[in-house]
Amino acid sequence: MPESSSEIPPPDFSRGRPVRIVSTKFDGSPHYEYEALLLDQHGPVLRCWIRPGTRWVGYRGEGVLMYPFTMLFFTDGRWYNVMHQHQPTGARGQLTYVNIGAPATVEGDTIRWVDLDLDVLRYEHGVEVHDEDEFVEHGARWGYPDDLIARVRATTAEVVRQVEAQAFPFDRDRHIPPSSAG
Ligand SMILES: [Mg+2]
Repeated sequence: MPESSSEIPPPDFSRGRPVRIVSTKFDGSPHYEYEALLLDQHGPVLRCWIRPGTRWVGYRGEGVLMYPFTMLFFTDGRWYNVMHQHQPTGARGQLTYVNIGAPATVEGDTIRWVDLDLDVLRYEHGVEVHDEDEFVEHGARWGYPDDLIARVRATTAEVVRQVEAQAFPFDRDRHIPPSSAG
């Protein structure tokens, strides 16, 4: 298992295999669905490119993504996935968005994962945890088991530490086109 990104070469954005990324909530209801290009796989690390103009459908409706990002999934049982924006996005300059969720699974051309509400966001000026209220609300509504709640909490705390350190896989510059890094 790669311990640092130095073992993974930069992605080649000139080729890829179409895949579908499908996420649900804990109760199986839809979260998001969209297409991506699977750029590469190094051991347990899958990297996808989500291009501008990608259509998405989700629990809040549907639309077209405006800004490209690289999304990393892991087949070694990590309880998160990572989205690195190719450009700082939004008024506050979002750089990285980490979804806390059940480990991804790959079946044919589909990557699936289960969203567990909490997100860790890195902006140009800091790191924040979002959607605490949703996590508490959904935990009560759907009966998140105690061990799942403990796992999500521990994972979130560890992800915050790693994002602050910009350690792999949160070393954004190494997963986006070189012209975007900085
Ligand atoms: Mg969330």
